[in-house]
Formats: sequence, structure tokens, C-alpha cells
Amino acid sequence: MKKAKDIITSGRVVYAILVLAVLLTVIAVGLVVFRHMGTESSSDSEHKSLVIVESGDTLSKLLLDQGFTNNDVLQIAKVLKSDADITSLRADNDKIEFIRLDEAEPVSKIVIIPSPWRQVEITCTDAGEWQCKTVDIERDTRAVYKTGEILDGDSFYLAGMRAGIPAGILAEVYDLLAFEMDFERDVRAGQKFSVLYEENFSDGKKVDNGRVLAVEFEALRGNVKMYRFKKSDGKTGYYDENGNGAIKSLKRTPINNAKVTSSFSNSRKHPVLGYTRAHKGVDFRASTGTPIPSAGAGRVVARGYNKGHGNYIKIRHNGSYETLYAHMSRFAKGVVVGTNVKQGQTIGYVGSTGLSTGPHLHYEIIKDGKHVNPMTVKLPAISNLGKEDKEKFLEYRKVLDDGIEQLEKHPDWFIQL
Ligand SMILES: [Zn+2]
Repeated sequence: MKKAKDIITSGRVVYAILVLAVLLTVIAVGLVVFRHMGTESSSDSEHKSLVIVESGDTLSKLLLDQGFTNNDVLQIAKVLKSDADITSLRADNDKIEFIRLDEAEPVSKIVIIPSPWRQVEITCTDAGEWQCKTVDIERDTRAVYKTGEILDGDSFYLAGMRAGIPAGILAEVYDLLAFEMDFERDVRAGQKFSVLYEENFSDGKKVDNGRVLAVEFEALRGNVKMYRFKKSDGKTGYYDENGNGAIKSLKRTPINNAKVTSSFSNSRKHPVLGYTRAHKGVDFRASTGTPIPSAGAGRVVARGYNKGHGNYIKIRHNGSYETLYAHMSRFAKGVVVGTNVKQGQTIGYVGSTGLSTGPHLHYEIIKDGKHVNPMTVKLPAISNLGKEDKEKFLEYRKVLDDGIEQLEKHPDWFIQL
């Protein structure tokens, strides 16, 4: 709040938003809407030089370059180890700032920056003793909102990039939505999507992106909405509008981004056999050797070879679901009948064994012993919220929705939660 106030300077609109913010703060979770404004910190008289650690750099080399004596280097290394648990520098990651009161003066302060949110400051006392302290950088987290639309011939990725969503955030959104939709078949021109995500600022400057807070996609089966929420036990997850777990127990598309080459059908002409027979699964094109992740957590109940499926694995999941993966080139090491697998764990690799015209994954979902269409079957959620958490979630969701409503009107604003 303190930081944020600095950002606000004037304007009736901003004032109105502040009033709204105060009102919303009263509603369980605080929400503040702000207008973006750059706040550059003023320069001071100190002389600073920043060194980005490169491969081959050592602390002693860098210190000696700055004019430190061997004795200083030893002392600094000692306090760094004992007080900050730093024993070596990481190339392409760590930065060191050398601060002098004046350009001609020796270094009076060294700041090691191992992450944007942590600094280790080393100073020399009047008695000539080196000491260090770790400072956690205060971060000012702002939630920003981006919307996009799929255009003709577009992919979700292209549309997302065009909407200005950073690649890392987009990848997370993709993974979240992959539980609910198939990007190959469910994406159409005209569909709109939106993402609310965090940007972390320090001293008015953006440092990095934070977490995805809310996602919405106009999918063919209806709007998909997900909200990130922290339960009272401290665990976070994504939930739909009603507080049901948005992360499903099974993935419709085990291999992200794989193109569907043949869909589920009760009658199709078999590409190898030539006559018409049902296709009890979905085929995803992928090159030989592509890892096949388990669509959900479960236990391997079959692993073997047959003429049709080639090398295949069958997994039994919670409840009444089983999944089957066929035409594998090989099985993953250690995955045998009886192995418990996690969602996303590699169970084998794409191949073209059995009745197959080329490398692909044939994927089946079997519900209560009956084959169902992986693309359309209603999948169970992993965990729903308890009564108390659900009430909290619904309040929190309301706050997020109100914030989103404001940001829809003012895309260059941000909110603070
Ligand atoms: Zn198939």
C-alpha cells in the first residue's frame, strides 16, 4: 500500500478507483486498482559499477580486479560463507555491484545480487572488519490483464504473443488449459481469451513476471475459467467459477501441442486394414522418441505387445477411468505392471509399432470398461474445496472478477491484491 500510494499522484478517476479500492479492501481480500506510471529513482552521488558474473569468474578474481588486497579477499570470502552461505558465484546469474563514495575512492560497499529479490551487502567497519547482511528486496506485485483473440489460421501461441502475453506466462496458461481443451481441435477464429497475471516491480521498475491468477478462454464446449486460489492449508490450485478443481484428473491431450491426426469414431476406414472399423481412441502425431506422459496419476495395469497396438501401456486411474497408450517405440525405464505413476510422468516413447502407418500416439480413455471420446468426455476434477475454503474462494473470485471488470475498461491499469 505504501509503495502504491507513491504511484498515485492526481486525477479524479484515480481517486474514484481508490474509493472503490477501499470499499473492496473491506470485502475480505484487498484489491487496489492503479494506473501505470513510471517512477524512476533519482540518481545519487555514489559511483556504482555493476559486474555480471561470467563463466570463469571467481570472487577473488573480481575483487582483485577492483583493487582489493589478498587479505580483504580472504576476509570477504569468509564472511560471505558464514553469514550469507555463499561460497561461489554463478555465471550468467549473479551480479555484483561495487560502490564507491567517489570514483577515485576505494570500494566502500559490495552488493552481491543472486536473485532480483535478494541482495547480500558487504561493508567495511571503521575498524577495518568486513561484515555482510542479507536484504530481501521489497516487491511491489501488480496484477495486469491481457486479452487476445484467435484470428483465422492462428494458433493460441501466436494470438497470445500478439496480445502481449509474455512467453513464460503463455506457456503456463497453455498447460492449464490443456486439461480442459485440445488446442488442435478446439481453437477457432473469433475465440477470445484473457489472462490476469502478476508483474513484480522493484523501485518502480518491472523485474519479472509472477503467477497466473486467472484465465478465461471461450472454448467450443463453453467458457473455461480458472482462478488461482490458496486454500487454508496453504496449498494453491486452480479452480473454476464454482470452486471445483480446474486441474482435471486426466488430460485430454497427453502430449502438449501434438496434432490430432485421427479422432475418435465409432466407424472409420482403418488406414492399414482397409475396412471400416471403430477408432476407439485419438491419434496424435509426434516424432519417434517423443516422451509420452501419463495423462493422470494411476497404476500401470498392463504393459505388453499386441498386433494392433504394438507396444502399449494401460493405466488405471482413480475412480472408473483407464487410459491406454499404443504404438510405442519403447517403454520408459522402470515403468512395469504395478508401477504407480504421477500425472505427467513419462511412461514410454512415441513409435510406430503394431498396425500403424507412421509414428504417432494412439490414446484411449476407458470409462467403466467402455471406450469414450477423450476430446469430449466430461472429466472429473482432482479436488474440490471444503465448505470453508469454498466460501473464501467465492469471495476471492468476486474480488478478482471486479478487478478484471475494471481492467477490461482500462487495459493499462493494474490491480494490487
Ligand atoms: Zn489410433
